[in-house]
Order: sequence, then structure tokens, then C-alpha cells
Amino acid sequence: MAKNYSSKINRIRTFALSLIFIGFIIMYVGIFFRQSPFLMTLFMLLGLLSIIASTVVYFWIGMLSTKAVQVICPNCNKPTKMLGRVDMCMHCKDPLTLDQSLEGKEFNESYNQKEK
Ligand SMILES: [Zn+2]
Repeated sequence: MAKNYSSKINRIRTFALSLIFIGFIIMYVGIFFRQSPFLMTLFMLLGLLSIIASTVVYFWIGMLSTKAVQVICPNCNKPTKMLGRVDMCMHCKDPLTLDQSLEGKEFNESYNQKEK
């Protein structure tokens, strides 16, 4: 795969993880503003919000995972979960599709946007 696609669930997970880190970094920056209680509280709140957001995203992944279709990847024979019409195998990044008409076509993220 030339393009750096990854499975949707994995991507959301990475996003949630980075939100936690961003939250901690924002809180850490807040420590430098000890002289100003207002700024420090602001940074602490922003950091906290970011961590709360990541918890929400993690919860969302949980919801999505229950809706995801479990398939056996034809390439590596491992069970993987896919979302939407096209997705990628979590293990080998092989493109997968549930839509017969898209089979054999090149992987394209835009197929997902045609969903209702
Ligand atoms: Zn695979």
C-alpha cells in the first residue's frame, strides 16, 4: 500500500490516545502559568476537557465495534472488524469490502461517503 491508510477503528483509537496526550500536555503547560490562577485554571480545564473527549471517543469506539462486521481477512486469515463499505484489515492492511460491486477495484475511501 502506497498510501498510509489504516483500519478505521485503529485510526479512531490512535486519535483517542493522542487526545489523552494532548490533554496532559495542555495541563503541563498550565503549570507554567502558576502566577496567574485564571490562566492556570483555564489550561487545566482545557486539558481535562481533552481527556474527557478522549474518554467519549473511546466509548464511541466501543459502540462502533459492536456495529462493525467481523470478517476473516482473505489475505492473512485473521479475524478483523470492518466499518462501512470499505475498510482495511487491522493486521495486514489489506483493503476489504462488503460490496460485491466494489470488489477488485482499487481501495478508495470515498466509497464510504455514498452511504446514507
Ligand atoms: Zn489481513
